[in-house]
Amino acid sequence: DTIGANLERTVARFGDREALVDVAAGRRWTYATLNADVNRLAAGLIERGIGTGDRVGIWAPNCAEWVITQYATAKIGAILVNVNPAYRTHELEYVVQQSGLKFLISAVSFKSSDYRAMIESIGFGAVAYIGEDDLFLSGDKSEMSGGRMGAGGVGGAEGVGGVGADGLGLAFDDPINIQYTSGTTGFPKGATLSHHNILNNGYFVGELLGYTDQDRICLPVPLYHCFGMVMGNLAATSHGACIILPSPGFDPAATLAAVQSEKATSLYGVPTMFIAELGLPDFGDYDLSSLRTGIMAGSPCPVEVMKRVVAEMNMAEVAICYGMTETSPVSTMTRADDTLARRTETVGRVMPHLESKVIDPGTGRVLGHGEPGELCTRGYSVMLGYWDQPDATAEAIDAARWMHTGDLATMDPDGYVNIVGRIKDLVIRGGENVYPREVEEFLHRHPDIADVQVIGVPDARYGEELMAWIVLRPGATPLSADDVRAFCTGKLSHFKIPRYVHVVDGFPMTVTGKVRKVEMRERAAEILS
Ligand code: ATP
Ligand code: MG
Repeated sequence: DTIGANLERTVARFGDREALVDVAAGRRWTYATLNADVNRLAAGLIERGIGTGDRVGIWAPNCAEWVITQYATAKIGAILVNVNPAYRTHELEYVVQQSGLKFLISAVSFKSSDYRAMIESIGFGAVAYIGEDDLFLSGDKSEMSGGRMGAGGVGGAEGVGGVGADGLGLAFDDPINIQYTSGTTGFPKGATLSHHNILNNGYFVGELLGYTDQDRICLPVPLYHCFGMVMGNLAATSHGACIILPSPGFDPAATLAAVQSEKATSLYGVPTMFIAELGLPDFGDYDLSSLRTGIMAGSPCPVEVMKRVVAEMNMAEVAICYGMTETSPVSTMTRADDTLARRTETVGRVMPHLESKVIDPGTGRVLGHGEPGELCTRGYSVMLGYWDQPDATAEAIDAARWMHTGDLATMDPDGYVNIVGRIKDLVIRGGENVYPREVEEFLHRHPDIADVQVIGVPDARYGEELMAWIVLRPGATPLSADDVRAFCTGKLSHFKIPRYVHVVDGFPMTVTGKVRKVEMRERAAEILS
């Protein structure tokens, strides 16, 4: 199925149901009115010469127009290129060139970013600005009757709605989306995804969360990332559920206020978002009784945080998802009927119609239960490839079509997966494998440590040594390497005890909120040289 055809079917079944609420803008859509705006934008894009296979970028914070753009491009078979809202000029330029962008839909500005100035500075002219351009005239009748419906709107609803996806000759396995990875381990790579890749993944996420047209999903996560546009939008439209956008950028108070006022049944977030919500001084004042489920995903989900979300946010059925941009994204997920221990300590089991295995990355041999190795995923969700990077694609997807994730995991006899870290972060000290996450979790127990990251640094004697970067709690006395080592002695094996300690205010982060250990290692080399 194509995304456009799927949307049409949902409109036929649930046309009058609410589809989308943009809380900050104070606007709401039913499936019927959403589809009308989608068709209008689709027609406007066609009029501007955009056709099947053309790359159309979207560079905007969360807003209804983002969602409308996602469906409009899907309907005409254009390839949507998600541009990170936090990007700056040189990153924009890279994406424009790497993807061969033909048209860009953007906001004028967001937070401290003047998008228009950056777009103009790279000389890119094929742009429509949300809020200014006629492509986005609202479907509100009073506006349209005033004759303000510009070129973009003429014949919109009829034109594309009548043609439909199949009339344009679209196929379910056509590329429809280029999503850049977070750039945690290196330069972001553009994962090319088909309708089938992401629509199915969104559908199955919705199935496992038990979504119906009664569900209302609050999305504080960025739409530009698969978490928002697939696990949110596509899970919702394939089940007739409603998407609630609480604010353009993440705001914990606005998120909980939207859950309360819009009676959300589901709430998403990366771990740091839930931590921020639980930490609000007036957290107890929000009425979260409408919630039943949601998703935590994106990076390791601390057990203590999961337990609090279940107990204090009324999200008894909350799931953990594991995945990556290259697999559309979700490949394993916990189920509501898993034990609480499995729902807080593992990333669940493989998704329907996908396969996973844990291998020795050196030999490719499948490992036994409990043995850590590289997690691999196979099935419909594996991307078509990295956009215009055949060598990188060949490195990631093998001849038997397994996606090598670069993540280290164990699997138990019942198929539950534990993520132990990334291969690139694994430290080999004197022949012993050290998983930094294990050392980090241990150091988290130190009363003076607010946050900690552990990396390997080159060492003449042992090959690598461990270095801990520590953020202290406010008012804590500075910790020396000896203090930290004393704290570990007798409790961690000697080879897991960090040799170096570096006290910092924070870590180098990606714009999606992940720690860039690759940059920490570069800086560590300078510190130690
Ligand atoms: P890059 O590939 O550019 O280095 P990235 O891998 O961080 O960046 P994404 O595709 O956004 O880019 O993130 C996927 C990665 O996030 C996974 O490979 C995994 O390391 C991590 N991840 C996702 N979900 C979880 C989870 N539930 N638990 C632990 N790690 C997770
Ligand atoms: Mg990755």
